[in-house]
Amino acid sequence: MLDIQSIRKDFPILSHTVYDKPLIYFDNAATTQKPRQVVEKIENGYYNVNANIHRGVHFLSQAATEAHEEARKTIQRFLNARSSNEIIFTRGTTESINLIASSFTDAFMEEGDEVIISEMEHHSNIVPWQIQAARKGISLKVIPITEKGELCMDTYRSLFSERTKLVSVAHISNVLGTINPVKEVIEIAHQHDVPVLLDGAQAVPHTKVDVQALDADFYVFSGHKIYGPTGIGVLYGKEDWLDKLPPYQGGGEMIATVTFEKTTFNELPFKFEAGTPDYIGSTALAEAIHYVEQLGIEAIAAHEDELLRHASKRLEAIEDVRIFGQSVHKSSVLSFLIGDIHHYDMGMLLDRLGIAVRTGHHCAQPLMKAFGIEGTVRASFAFYNTKEEIDTFIAGIERVKTMF
Ligand code: PLP
Repeated sequence: MLDIQSIRKDFPILSHTVYDKPLIYFDNAATTQKPRQVVEKIENGYYNVNANIHRGVHFLSQAATEAHEEARKTIQRFLNARSSNEIIFTRGTTESINLIASSFTDAFMEEGDEVIISEMEHHSNIVPWQIQAARKGISLKVIPITEKGELCMDTYRSLFSERTKLVSVAHISNVLGTINPVKEVIEIAHQHDVPVLLDGAQAVPHTKVDVQALDADFYVFSGHKIYGPTGIGVLYGKEDWLDKLPPYQGGGEMIATVTFEKTTFNELPFKFEAGTPDYIGSTALAEAIHYVEQLGIEAIAAHEDELLRHASKRLEAIEDVRIFGQSVHKSSVLSFLIGDIHHYDMGMLLDRLGIAVRTGHHCAQPLMKAFGIEGTVRASFAFYNTKEEIDTFIAGIERVKTMF
């Protein structure tokens, strides 16, 4: 059991008021709030441990380097990767996927080769592949979803051909909350000798991820969605794969030797980390992960499941509600529409009551198209949210409903 009231004290922003109402923050799938410990780590980093890393012989540079490399080990342990060489720091999920899309396509794909994605992907797992499609003539195959918002696994099985080179799907949908059967997705792909990239942006804050148990080839996530800072994220890749991929960007840090005639590249993980890395961000991300681990990911999941069950039950009782994403395997995301109230109107009016939800297409326009809608209202819960907040949110929806 989590002591939510004492946890909330670690998040100063949660005691703010908005329009004289206590803030209820239900936009956690977009970004999470940061505990004091993470912000203090950033402050301490800049005040006390700041020097550019890896190249310095001096004390501060070595301390900063050690902190950055220790952070990499924290991520390695968190994902249960075999080696810290398999952990690449990026700016976030989007950059991690772009890195793989670019490097994997360059190394392993020819015109006519195929990548399998799904209908529920975030734009950041669609557009990078389309850029490669335009550049190199590869094509996308799309796993459709069921009415409940689950992957059609039979269709998935039938999408493989000898031209399939990679599968890239979300671990958890940012719109539907569906927890995809990613172990099975990977097993099927591996039967065809096809590697799999999992977009874990929505998964790492809510569920234990073990990349070895999953046998994932690539796994990506963003720091800011797991209570860490913005601008830092992770690409996990099996060492065998990363060794074979060409660098994504060129510059300092990623080289072994440079002459005007020829450059040789650094070893992993530095080959993929051109330029000065966000060494303050990496240590703050590690701090966020320690925070999550201290609470316990199982306890977090249990509390968030309870919030989801409570909110779903209360929302379902509202007349004319449509909930998108009805999988039994679901994380704490609720996308819905009420009658013909426009999602923006609902979002704006809830905001006046101090309740922050997201409205719109949630960077998943193809998914909206599949449901024949333009957008939804999305409430997404984190461990610091409470049932009382959900009750206030439901009362808010009822109130908005009476206005229409
Ligand atoms: N993938 C999913 C499933 C997401 O929910 C998001 C963000 O909402 C992203 C990718 C993109 O993450 P970022 O903007 O941090 O790169």
